[in-house]
Formats: sequence, structure tokens, C-alpha cells
Amino acid sequence: MAKANYIRVIVDRTIHRELDYLVPEALSERVGVGSRVRVPFREKSALATVVAVLDHSKAEGIRPIEAVIGEAPILSEGLLELARWISTYYCCPIEAVMRSLLPQVIRRAEVGWKKQLFVRPVRKIDNEEMEKLRRRAPRQAELLDAISKLQAPVRAADLLRQTSFDNQTLRALVKRGLAELREEAIVRDPHGDEQFIATSNLELNAEQVLALKEITQLLDSPESTRPILLHGVTGSGKTEIYLQAIRAALERGRSAIVLVPEISLTPQTVERFKGRFAEAQDAVAVLHSHLSEGERHDEWHKIHSGRARIVIGPRSAVFAPLKNLGLIVVDEEHENTYKQEEAPRYHARDVAVVRARMEKCVVVLGSATPSLESYHNAARGKYRLATLTQRIDEKQMPLMRIVDLRQERRKEKAIAILSERLRAAVADRLEKGEQTILFLNRRGFSTSLLCSNCGEARNCPNCSVALTFHRHVTRLSCHLCGHTAAVPKKCPACGKDALIYAGFGTEKVESTVAYIFPKATVRRMDADSMTRKEAYRETLRNFRAGKIDILVGTQMIAKGLHFPNVTLVGIINADLSLHLPDFRAGERTFQLLTQVAGRAGRGETPGEVFVQTYTPFSPSIQFARHHDFAGYFQQELEFRDRCDFPPFKHAILITVRSAHEGRAKLSAETLRRRLKEALPEEFILGDATPAPLEKLQGQFRFHILLRGEAIMRLSRLVRETLDKLPFPEEVTVAVDVDPYQLL
Ligand code: ADP
Ligand code: ZN
Repeated sequence: MAKANYIRVIVDRTIHRELDYLVPEALSERVGVGSRVRVPFREKSALATVVAVLDHSKAEGIRPIEAVIGEAPILSEGLLELARWISTYYCCPIEAVMRSLLPQVIRRAEVGWKKQLFVRPVRKIDNEEMEKLRRRAPRQAELLDAISKLQAPVRAADLLRQTSFDNQTLRALVKRGLAELREEAIVRDPHGDEQFIATSNLELNAEQVLALKEITQLLDSPESTRPILLHGVTGSGKTEIYLQAIRAALERGRSAIVLVPEISLTPQTVERFKGRFAEAQDAVAVLHSHLSEGERHDEWHKIHSGRARIVIGPRSAVFAPLKNLGLIVVDEEHENTYKQEEAPRYHARDVAVVRARMEKCVVVLGSATPSLESYHNAARGKYRLATLTQRIDEKQMPLMRIVDLRQERRKEKAIAILSERLRAAVADRLEKGEQTILFLNRRGFSTSLLCSNCGEARNCPNCSVALTFHRHVTRLSCHLCGHTAAVPKKCPACGKDALIYAGFGTEKVESTVAYIFPKATVRRMDADSMTRKEAYRETLRNFRAGKIDILVGTQMIAKGLHFPNVTLVGIINADLSLHLPDFRAGERTFQLLTQVAGRAGRGETPGEVFVQTYTPFSPSIQFARHHDFAGYFQQELEFRDRCDFPPFKHAILITVRSAHEGRAKLSAETLRRRLKEALPEEFILGDATPAPLEKLQGQFRFHILLRGEAIMRLSRLVRETLDKLPFPEEVTVAVDVDPYQLL
């Protein structure tokens, strides 16, 4: 490493500037670009990342750094360059980008491998002693209780987090000699206790061979970094191509990242990757949000040290510190979960494309229903297109049947929720011993509680939405902020005993279906029923084993799952996503229908899909029905072009919010005036308007939507305007470049 005299750093606080420090002689050998250091900052210390090594510095009052963290630089220069790009493009302070780039546990990683403290009980405590402690120090007694139940030593940090006791309580126990803390180094492998059955490459069909060849050709010509869009219907063997492409990258001494939406990072998926690369136990690192801090730390180091050559994970895995990256796969590239909804508001697919360009590696975007953005890029030659039109073994696409709910309502014996035809289809499957999935993208039992006398609905006090009734806990709850309330007996507004439940969610679908088919085993899978970490795996395992006849769920069941015995899928209400005030509503509905439908008929028997809707003739539904992707995109692209929406123009959404409605409004209007002065004619500047979701978590919200082609320029002008404009303290401004959330 070059000998450093001065360094420039980004501290872990948002201060919008970089600072220079002196490196003491003794430390200079150990500091380089990408190192983490501790520096004096204001009156205290702060952690920081080195972004440049300097010969001299003009900064005044320059101070020496305090310490270097870790042996080697943590960030490569490539990743630093990527961070800068994200900061500029997404109009967001570099400090915030750094926070996303490095997991928290790595950022404050003065805790290395060896410093991990493990707790274990020291000896058996008799009842009398326990009682005494309970009287004198009840919290300590409770903690001791938890410790004495431990089968094996656990990480102190994990224990404290799980039990929500503090460090002090633990230290007190140690001092009393009732518990022991010991430093141990252990590599935590979240999948360490599982066996993966080794698999080998399948023989590809003709379309797959072509697609794989596109990829390997690019691997062999690193100068060409044009992304590949792999458009393949569900079940056409995309994942098999990813696996073989990764193998090809490894054979060339390079590494690979596979991004998957969090929701489809299932045990099934992990198994496929771990199984294929089972020759080296550490070869595949899995990153996901359920990892403990310790597991995350170890997986990260496994990647950083080069032991893991393949990383699979959601959004943030795009920042995995792999060396010699050869391939990035973005599976289900159209998924919204790739967009981060807090600063930095980056889109992992787009960051993947940029990282691939910077590091000269191949990027493959795969989907059965590509986003309009990617499809458009392929159509105009910016991306290469590879297509898989056939399901493996030429399995049939499922038959899509549309149920017109308007007619259904006129029927006499109509049961809400399940139409007659769907009900008959479910009965038929039960008889044949086949399985059914029922899909509804709404949780809870009833979606609102109304007074039939005065018409008042129970709304969330913090948000402008109705509270949802959850029967299993008998409470009302807000799906936006988590506020919960007891269910009133009488209308709190008029005092009459006239409350009625309206609208329905998955909980009610489950109970209705169980009522209609008393002999069937019905299970529900949504965020409410899957709170336990193990519940998800368990339900999937039981479903696969045929122990569940009907699975009811939200989008949690829509994606990527593969069940050969499912021959029927019912979409309870296709309209839910269609009528949102969002220009992507149609696209999302089309994607969702296609994806959910893809769950049917993956085995020997062809599948059947029932789509219940009040708007049977909307294009998203009709094109999805005929599996006509090209047709849908043609008409949707025309619409977007006409209205100057993406992918023809980029958009930036500015949200101004405050607990005071007037102040939010005034600030938004002032900001809009300044933008009007700052922006050239070519940009389209919308009015400052109340957001569709006017109030969220107690904050009033106003939107300004900007559009234009030259996004980097627009981003810069927005940043400059914001920097010049002082906002009152209680007003927050958020800038979202390429927004996906328009509510
Ligand atoms: P996708 O990712 O497009 O949904 P998958 O890769 O999961 O498709 O493939 C669907 C099924 O077909 C999987 O069970 C997979 O193992 C199998 N499969 C994929 N390619 C082949 C092939 N060339 N020959 C035989 N089976 C294959
Ligand atoms: Zn709320």
C-alpha cells in the first residue's frame, strides 16, 4: 500500500462534504483508499471511509486520525466509484450511499472475528437463590432465567437483542458470578446444518443453448458490456441458464452475483444454487434480511476474503465486495422490491447495469414479464434480447378464464368472494386430489369498519386510510403505520350500534373457503400468518408434501414457487392493483396476473386459472389472458409515449412533508417556484399537489413530479435548487429519482 500522509474521508454522518486528515507515521502503511478509520470529529470520534490518499492538503486545522479499522481496505475503488455514481444519479448525499454499501455490522466493525462474546450459564442455581435475586434484582433474575435455558453458548449481542435486556444487566450477572462471558471466534453459516444434494448441468434445449451462448460469448469479450435481457415464460428454464452461466464465469476465474427479489429468496432457490456448486462448501454466500448481525458479518467476510465466489441475495447484494466480477444476474428484473424506498433510493437492477459497465462484466436481466423499461431498451438495441418461448417439456401454458363479477353479483345464490365457477373448479380439484392456490393482494379480515347510521369509517388517526379488521387478534390495524385500535361496540361518532364490516382480505377468504369446503385443509400465507421465521418454510413444506389442499395468500405466494400438483389458481380480485393512481398500475396488474398464473400447471396436468374482475375488458387482463406479452407492451408503450411517462422520460418525484399541513403546502409551493426558475423549458414540471396518500404516519404530504430525458442534468438542478433553499426544521423533503411509489 502506498505510504499515506494525508487522506480524504467520508465520515458516517450526513454533512455533505469530505474531510482531510493527517495519517501518523506509524499508521501510514496500513491506510489506503477504501480503508475504514476512526477520526476525531467535532468534539468526539467518528468512523469514516477513506476515499483518497493525498500528498498534501490545504485544509486548515488538520488533525491526525485515531485508528485504522481492519487489516485490509474494506471498499474497492470500483465500489467507491459506484457509490459516487449513485449519489449523483439518485440525488442523494454520498454518506447515505455509504450506509447502504456497507452493512452496519461491517461499518462499525471494530468488532472483528475474535472479539465476539458468548454467554453461558455458570452453574445450576437453586430456587432459593433465584428467589433472592428475583426480589433484589428482578431484571437480572429474568435474564438469568433465559440464560439457564441455553443449550449452548450464544452470542451476547444476539441474546440481548432477542430478550431486550441491556448490557448492564448482563454485566451485573457476570459480576455476581452467575453467568460467564467468553470470547470465541466462530464462523456462523446460516445454512451450515443443511445438506445440499449435488446436482450437475442439465442438457439444455435449443433455445436455452442459444441464450447461454449469448452470455458466454460476452464473458469472453470483456469489452462489450451490453446487458442481456432474458425473456422467458415461467418454467422455461431461466434458472438453469443462470446456473450454467455462473459455472462458465467460475471456469474463467471470475465471480458472480445473483440478485433475487427478497420474496423469492426461498429455501428452494438457495438449495438449487448451493446444490449446483456443492463442490466447495463456502462457494455460495447467501445474503438476506433474516440473517443475524453475526451471520451477516461472516457472510460478508467470506465474500470479501474471496472464499465465496458466488453471492445470492436481494437488492443490496448488488454491492457484494467480490473481486474479479464476471457476471451479475438480476432475476425477476421487473420486481418493485429492487427499488429501495428510503435514501439512497436506488434501483438494484439499474445499479447492476452500471456496476457491470464499470467493472466490465456481463449482466443478465431475467423475467417472464420484463419491465417496460428493460423491454424498451431491448427493442431499441441498447440491450441484447434472448428469448425462451417454451416451457420445459413443452408443458402447456395454463388456460386463463375470466369471471365477470358484475354478472356474478346478479346471480341469486351468489357467495361473495368465490364465484360459482371458481367454486366448482375448487371442488373438482379436491375430488381429484389436486391442489389450489387462491390469491388476494390484501391482508386482514375486513378492510373497513363502517357505521351504517352515520356513514363514518374507522380511519387511522395518523394516515388517510381506513383501518383493517384482523379477526385472529380481534383488533383494527393500519397497514401503513402499524397503529392498532380496539374494535368499538358502537359507532364512536354517532353512538349507534350500527357498525358493519366491509371489504375483505385473505383472512376472510381463508375462513370462507374453510366454511364452503369443510373437509379441505386450508392454510393462509401472508405477512400476518408468517410472523415466525420457520412458519414460511413449514407451510411450503406441507404444501409441497400435499398436506394442504388450498393455499390462500398474498403476493408472498405469487412468485417463483414451483409446485407440480397445483392445477388451479384463483385470483380473487384482479382489480385491486388496477385502479391505483399510478401510471404503472396496468403494467403491474399484467405482471401479477402472468406471474400468479405461472404457479398453475407446472407438473404433468395442465393448469387452469380463474381471474375474477369487475373490469374484464381492461387491456392488462385481456392480454394476460392470451399470454400476449408483445401485444400488451405495444399498447402500453404507446400510452406511455403519449403521456411522456417512463421509459420515454425519466421522472423525479419530490415529496414535501410536515406534521403541519400549512407548512408542508407552503414549502412545496415555494420549492416549485424555485424549480420553475431553475429548470430549462425541456423539463416538465408538475404542480405542487397533495399526494394521493395525503397523510401518512402523522405527516401531511405534497408532491411535485418532474420529468425529462436528461436525468443526470435534472438531478443536478434539483439538488442545487434544494441546497439553496432553507426549509423550516419541521419540514422534510425527499427526492426520488425514477420513482416506483407514487402514492
Ligand atoms: P424458470 O426459472 O424460467 O421459471 P426453471 O429454471 O426453474 O425455469 O425451470 C423449470 C423446471 O424445468 C425446473 O424444474 C428445472 O430443473 C427444469 N429444467 C430447466 N431446464 C431444463 C432442461 N434443459 N432439461 C430438463 N429440465 C430442465
Ligand atoms: Zn396509519
